[in-house]
Amino acid sequence: MRAEVIIIGGGPAGMAAALFAKRAGASVLLLEHNEKLGKKLYITGKGRCNVTNDCEQEEFLRHVLRNPRFLYAALNHLSPSGLIDLLHSLSCQTVTERGNRVFPASQKASDVTKAFAGQLAANEIRLHAQVVDIVTEGHTVTGVRLADGAIIPAKAVILATGGLSYPITGSTGIGHELAKRLGHTILPCSPSLTGFNTQDAWPKKLQGLTLKNVKLSATWPRKGKFTEQGELLFTHFGVSGPLVLSLSGFLAGSDPTAALVTLDLKPALSPAMLEERLLGDIKTNSRRTLHSLLREYLPASMAAVFPDILGLDGSITLNQFTQKDRDTLIEGFKNLPLRLHTARPFKEAVVTKGGMDVREVNPSTMASKLVGGLYFAGELLDVDALTGGFNLQIAFSTGALAGTSAAHAIH
Ligand SMILES: Cc1cc2nc3c(=O)[nH]c(=O)nc-3n(C[C@H](O)[C@H](O)[C@H](O)COP(=O)(O)OP(=O)(O)OC[C@H]3O[C@@H](n4cnc5c(N)ncnc54)[C@H](O)[C@@H]3O)c2cc1C
Repeated sequence: MRAEVIIIGGGPAGMAAALFAKRAGASVLLLEHNEKLGKKLYITGKGRCNVTNDCEQEEFLRHVLRNPRFLYAALNHLSPSGLIDLLHSLSCQTVTERGNRVFPASQKASDVTKAFAGQLAANEIRLHAQVVDIVTEGHTVTGVRLADGAIIPAKAVILATGGLSYPITGSTGIGHELAKRLGHTILPCSPSLTGFNTQDAWPKKLQGLTLKNVKLSATWPRKGKFTEQGELLFTHFGVSGPLVLSLSGFLAGSDPTAALVTLDLKPALSPAMLEERLLGDIKTNSRRTLHSLLREYLPASMAAVFPDILGLDGSITLNQFTQKDRDTLIEGFKNLPLRLHTARPFKEAVVTKGGMDVREVNPSTMASKLVGGLYFAGELLDVDALTGGFNLQIAFSTGALAGTSAAHAIH
């Protein structure tokens, strides 16, 4: 078995690399150690496969958390609309939903995998093939070594083995190790787009509750500020959901306990408006308890624990409610402190912060600046973005550019 271009890893980056290298005239071999290609695709977009975000480049890059400028050439090579057109041309129709999120119309990841893999012949894909080393002569790649000891020669190798997130899907971080052996720098990795364990117990008591339209704000040393409105989920470990995942993208690698995080449960109401509403309620319902009143302001499970969180007595009637109690309640609605403890581990993270230092990779080709014939693509690079289809597009775009460049360099 031989090929001009070997692609290590059959995720979105590797599949795009194989397709684009083949289209550019190279003979290709895609090596994947799982029993199927694109395993992680099946869990993206809540199982519906959020392939990309159909927005303009400037908007796209605003959602990239690290090294956005590294992506210019890759996104020009395969833009979100280019990917959508490509999928359509490969019989995978798409639908675009709220926030420009794009899904296969069938909502099946297998249709995306089929679109790419369908362009490769059976002898161009090898499953259950684990690469354990990249073979070089001098400073140029000559092939790869498999776990069974076999060496497959190649003129170019594209490393697309993913990061460290969700290792159950096959991305174990071995790509970092392979690159490191060849002299590349691997920056420290941390889980990103993940939930947080909390210091306080009360979020855990609310597990399963989703708060919609709340505002999450945070400040932390040196890095600055985060404020976003949306959905937050309480879990058995603390907090998760879209708002928290976004926050974790910014906080990844820093100490979450140093962040001052607050929740605005009533972003549409100013403190003065809340006070007015409370005073009206107190006047007309003076014999009601605080617990009972709170059920009109908050979901029942949160209303039950809210007085405790704020150090108030939920059983007192509203006619006993003092100005100080009112101020405490309003402060609780507008600035409820959420004390984070630690980020959830890699096995639950959507992406990896850190990895291959992109200063050692040519952004116009995805080629290694250190080793001839070596290319990189996808999540193993130190480039990551917020949720919404951006990370998959980064994988497809960097893969496509690496594939085309590797093929052109050979011919
Ligand atoms: C729960 C979850 C939800 C997500 N949701 C979204 C979303 O909605 N939108 C979005 O844009 N992104 C989402 N992502 C992120 C996205 O899936 C990844 O960024 C993307 O899959 C990275 O693609 P990749 O090809 O670089 O790596 P991967 O998809 O990880 O693929 C790497 C491949 O390499 C193979 N491999 C590894 N080592 C070897 C080896 N030594 N030999 C052979 N093969 C090897 C692996 O088995 C794997 O198939 C989500 C991720 C998770 C975990």
